[in-house]
Amino acid sequence: MSVPLYQLPEQQPLVWQPTSVEEAVHLKHQWGDDAVLVSGGTWLRTRWENGVSPLPQHLISLERIQALSGLAIDAGGLIHIGPLLHLADLMDNELMRARCRLLVQACAEIAAPSVRNLASIGGNVVTRTGDLIPALLVLDALVICSDGHTEQGVSLQKWLEGPVQSSFEVMTGITVPTIEHTGEEHTFEFYLKVGRRETFTPSVVTVAGRLRLAPDRTIQGIAIAAGGGSAVPARFNELEAITIGQPLSKQLLQSLHKGISEGFNAVADDYAGVAYRKQTAANLIVSECYKIWRRGGGADAPKS
Ligand SMILES: Cc1cc2nc3c(=O)[nH]c(=O)nc-3n(C[C@H](O)[C@H](O)[C@H](O)COP(=O)(O)OP(=O)(O)OC[C@H]3O[C@@H](n4cnc5c(N)ncnc54)[C@H](O)[C@@H]3O)c2cc1C
Repeated sequence: MSVPLYQLPEQQPLVWQPTSVEEAVHLKHQWGDDAVLVSGGTWLRTRWENGVSPLPQHLISLERIQALSGLAIDAGGLIHIGPLLHLADLMDNELMRARCRLLVQACAEIAAPSVRNLASIGGNVVTRTGDLIPALLVLDALVICSDGHTEQGVSLQKWLEGPVQSSFEVMTGITVPTIEHTGEEHTFEFYLKVGRRETFTPSVVTVAGRLRLAPDRTIQGIAIAAGGGSAVPARFNELEAITIGQPLSKQLLQSLHKGISEGFNAVADDYAGVAYRKQTAANLIVSECYKIWRRGGGADAPKS
């Protein structure tokens, strides 16, 4: 059993550093609502500083749990990402850069280098509104969670649709299936974040997409997702289903625009209203599909 690393001055929390998931969960059960699990602490810190949630008496740091920091690819091309990995580490990792470019691009859009050196991928996902989530959704990511005894894997999409994760559970893994980029494939990916300024800004809208075109230029596979602000990011499953097998065309882009505007569960805040966010998400996704249509060629592809 771990002991508190140090005790800060009066009224400051005790910091615990368990070395296993079981121990972390045990500590959480011991202290209940007086404790919180911490990865990088960058999201939590903003909440404490803004008075959104109180600083608890016990911080259970996950950083000494080595099992949560691995990064590997298995024989089937599945990348296993430890939730504790920092965004900066993911951006620098050769495997990620070669096989998971969309996620690397999404990491680069978050905060600034100093924050990315601390911020973890798991912390970003557990917040349910992190800007990495749209990218992970279109990559068909799975999340694995443990209650200290058993681990369970579920698609990120289902996990987001379900009840908020129990604060007594630890996210122990994120897996992402990958494709090899040969340079000849007809797979196109995009990730875009719109904020109130160019960089180092909270998102107003974040979108991601992946399109696979058949040699005859019809859509063989499509995954699109939107989030941003306080919206829980989501895929557009029904829209995707009716798009499969169709060629990219002006009519298809128009119905995509309508479907995204109607289907995006945007949330208003001080920065932007719902209507603006819906239109922005639809504009961003459709303009990327238009560029893909143009790049993908074909007799009726637009020239500019
Ligand atoms: C200046 C600044 C700018 C930011 N800009 C952005 C931005 O542009 N986009 C964006 O998405 N975010 C942004 N953030 C928020 C934050 O940095 C990221 O979401 C980050 O990835 C959160 O990771 P973390 O490790 O710091 O999470 P933490 O703060 O440690 O934790 C976040 C939540 O997840 C829980 N948690 C963490 N790890 C686990 C785990 N393994 N299992 C179970 N629960 C866990 C914690 O209990 C907490 O509820 C910003 C923050 C700051 C301070």
